[in-house]
Amino acid sequence: MITDIDIVIKSDRSVIGKEEKPTVEIIKGLYSLPFNDLISKAHSIHNANFEPNTVQLSTLVNIKSGACPEDCSYCPQSIRYKTNVSTTTLMSVEDILEKAKKAKESGAGRFCMGAAWRSPKDKDLKVLLPVLKGIKELGLETCMTLGMLTASQADKLKEAGLDYYNHNLDTSENFYKKIITTRTFEQRLETINNVQKSGIKVCCGGIIGLGETDNDRFELLHVIASMEPQPESVPINTLVKVKGTPLQDEQDVEPIDLVRLIATARVILPKTYIRLSAGRSSMSDELQALCFFSGANSIFYGEELLTTENPKINKDKALMEKLGIMSE
Ligand code: SF4
Repeated sequence: MITDIDIVIKSDRSVIGKEEKPTVEIIKGLYSLPFNDLISKAHSIHNANFEPNTVQLSTLVNIKSGACPEDCSYCPQSIRYKTNVSTTTLMSVEDILEKAKKAKESGAGRFCMGAAWRSPKDKDLKVLLPVLKGIKELGLETCMTLGMLTASQADKLKEAGLDYYNHNLDTSENFYKKIITTRTFEQRLETINNVQKSGIKVCCGGIIGLGETDNDRFELLHVIASMEPQPESVPINTLVKVKGTPLQDEQDVEPIDLVRLIATARVILPKTYIRLSAGRSSMSDELQALCFFSGANSIFYGEELLTTENPKINKDKALMEKLGIMSE
């Protein structure tokens, strides 16, 4: 029988050593602890590994919107669903750099670029590689999410100065097939592997509220926490239900479940940035405060998240001031 103490000790990799991975059973046990015990543990692990009361700010810009051939059921950018998302071609280098400059002026530390592709073509990379240099010169970290990458594409991006690559697993391997059919869970892991081998830092997380079970969430965390090294950044997204997508009528996520998941992620991923991502614009200040207490230490900052709404910059600044939280 696993006791509460075992769960806490075994799930804390700073105690057990990095070769031992938290099992799904351990993750479940941790998640099911009395709420206050779980968030207190997460808070102290957080403060032992990060500067307390500090949040990393990333700005995400959609550099190529819509008409994506993939069928991710949650995504309004898929060409298969009738949504209000506009379709654009790849943004010019000048326009991307202008957006990066604005992000820097409003206080972001990282500039993330998303393109709605299955995978980038070599001609797309030719445009994007010089962009990375320009963004680095502004003093910003760089992140991209462009779909599947080959090993050689990852190497080229690394060489051009890419710091982070985002590629989410979305959900458990089992539930994944119900959400996306046009590329496999295995293919996602391959891209993450290519990114890791190139030396680019990995940003890899998931989405809750897709209709998955608690166990699917634990399995997702298990796969992420078992990566070697663990991803430097893990976004936890809450489904934004967009009209026209197959998941438009899914049930809302229970806020306490979100806090539990963040706290669990913090314990098993002690040195990873946990990003409170999509869905934040419909969260109360109190819920976000609980998420920060429980180990979330990164947010998207800026008024749009690819195609969905994000809190206004002034609202975020006011919240951070109320909570005494500084940006990195
Ligand atoms: S999530 Fe990405 S890959 Fe999936 S449909 Fe949307 S843009 Fe395409």
